[in-house]
Amino acid sequence: MRRIGHFIDGVETEGKAAGFQDVFNPATGEVQAQVALASAADLEAAVASAAAAQPKWAATNPQRRARVFFNFVGLINKHMDELAALLSSEHGKTVDDAKGDILRGLEVAEFVAGAPHLLKGEFTDGAGPGIDMYSMRQPVGIGAGITPFNFPAMIPLWMLSPAIAAGNAFILKPSERDPSVPVRLAQLAVEAGLPKGILNVVHGGKEVVDGILAHEKIEAISFVGSTPIARYVYGTAAAQGKRVQAFGGAKNHMVIMPDADMEKAADALIGAGYGSAGERCMAISVAVPVGAETADRIVAALKPRVEKLKVGPASDKASEMGPVITKASQERIRSLISSGVDQGAELVLDGRDFSLQGYENGYFVGPTLFDRVTPDMDIYKEEIFGPVLSVVRSNTYEQALQLVMDNPYGNGTAIFTRDGDAARDFAARVNVGMVGVNVPVPVPLAYHSFGGWKASAFGDLNQHGMDSIKFWTRTKTVTARWPSGIKDGAEFQMPTMA
Ligand code: NAD
Repeated sequence: MRRIGHFIDGVETEGKAAGFQDVFNPATGEVQAQVALASAADLEAAVASAAAAQPKWAATNPQRRARVFFNFVGLINKHMDELAALLSSEHGKTVDDAKGDILRGLEVAEFVAGAPHLLKGEFTDGAGPGIDMYSMRQPVGIGAGITPFNFPAMIPLWMLSPAIAAGNAFILKPSERDPSVPVRLAQLAVEAGLPKGILNVVHGGKEVVDGILAHEKIEAISFVGSTPIARYVYGTAAAQGKRVQAFGGAKNHMVIMPDADMEKAADALIGAGYGSAGERCMAISVAVPVGAETADRIVAALKPRVEKLKVGPASDKASEMGPVITKASQERIRSLISSGVDQGAELVLDGRDFSLQGYENGYFVGPTLFDRVTPDMDIYKEEIFGPVLSVVRSNTYEQALQLVMDNPYGNGTAIFTRDGDAARDFAARVNVGMVGVNVPVPVPLAYHSFGGWKASAFGDLNQHGMDSIKFWTRTKTVTARWPSGIKDGAEFQMPTMA
């Protein structure tokens, strides 16, 4: 059986494993590898390696650090097919989708190749008599990232790229469900010229996360995962005085106005609702048509499209949607679908009994469509994280907007309309972090910042863009007065430049 080790001090190692956990192929239900679970000693070894390497890396000029990222980007591109196949085999998403996962992470590595410019400070010449004032961005030291299963390449790259380019050492704790790609990325980073110890990977669950949250040498923590764990990580790490950003779950709505192009809106909903089996934090899980006629038209446009979706393993090039991640997730999604039926939603297409010849033990759930869902139902309240789209009918635009506003999550949302006024009003008023206008999955590009509002994010600064540079650095401001500006005698009042 293949073993997946940690990556500590530049080498893959099983360390002093606290145990091993099975890694499944979600398309077949078979165990395909075992991942080592880090013991306290393994985490300690990763921190020691990071602490030994970080000062020299921080003192390396930013152009040289940036060059490692140019090489890293080249190597990821060179190994794209291998990485995508590995990712699909553990996650279950299609190979094209896996390439998208890698590419969106790669774009952040490209962004931070501009580190010399991104890390520039500010300077004021002559802030007072003989006085100059300047600020600089210095690395925090050792940072850590804890990532979810659903983007095993993109989210680690969101975090490790700005952290490392800014001069930090970084410890990644990826999801234990699909841990191979993060280790492979760390190997490629070393091949690209990253000194050993600057990027370490440790595997495990709550125990190792708790070790990271408590470790006195880890200064900053970035987390992405479900809301209950995000809340826990944020609270625990902040109470230790650490810098922390924690991104949680989502329930993303797409409002469809009566003037929208229904065919295009339906196509958008299919990709956004069922792509990656709905296991995206920016997936659209609620469609909100405005007006009864719009609702009838969108459901009529959706139904044949959902029926036609090709569900299958990533190894079949024709597959448009793969399995979900675990047996437990499959069972949870099926039971939520049943709760929707029990609570009175109209089940237009039922994916509970979906089965594929030759893959009967795979964790497949067929694409499911509900109409006439109401906000009190569990299928509306819960983040299902599966291929289930709910239509919540609304009478007016204001009612649709209020529904989105009242939802506890605030990751992404979209409006489909030809009316610029409505789109502008929606973008301005909605209390959600990322908004699409005729764009169903409005994930910002690497040079903008990614982050939700409300229960979808805890902390101030977002992922990638300038926010990530700020998160992984501390600002230091220097006020310097030269002898020509120094007055004789002591001054007792608060210094001013008046
Ligand atoms: P998860 O919360 O179960 O796990 C995330 C990470 O936390 C993993 O590394 C896991 O090992 C660790 N973990 C799990 N239980 C823990 C515990 N009790 N204590 C400490 N650490 C623990 O999330 P997941 O199932 O891997 O990912 C899916 C979730 O992530 C969804 O809710 C999805 O919306 C969310 N997500 C959010 C974003 C975003 O940017 N907001 C992006 C991707 C995924």
